[in-house]
Amino acid sequence: MGLTMMFITHDLTTASYMCDRIAVMYQGEIVEIGTTQEVINYPSHPYTRALVSVVTDLNHFIDNRERIILDGEVDATMEKKGCIFVNRCPFKEEHCEHHSPDFIQKEENHFVACSCLDKVPAGLPKEQIFDKKPVS
Ligand code: SF4
Repeated sequence: MGLTMMFITHDLTTASYMCDRIAVMYQGEIVEIGTTQEVINYPSHPYTRALVSVVTDLNHFIDNRERIILDGEVDATMEKKGCIFVNRCPFKEEHCEHHSPDFIQKEENHFVACSCLDKVPAGLPKEQIFDKKPVS
């Protein structure tokens, strides 16, 4: 039938059941996009990692996660020159203040907008990834 639906929500759990692909946005910009399996089990952007780590309803997908609590505040001025997430990012480097990151392809269908991915741990701390797929 070739039908595509876009489901916009703050509820990551529901999105993980409903959607084949997830795009995570921060202040109106997509920071990570990929298959649901990839984004939920291997969150790679620092914002996605924090987001996934605090959603308790995802425990049937990922267990023993360390909660990631972000410092800093959202920059409401929207006068950004560099990375949109720089005010809150625990992995930021000097160049993040001045350069907006391009998308980096992690897997065939998994893209992350972060120029320091080599410093961001893959997945979540103390992760235990279930074999079953989050969507049927
Ligand atoms: S580009 Fe820099 S500030 Fe932006 S998410 Fe990556 S490490 Fe953090």
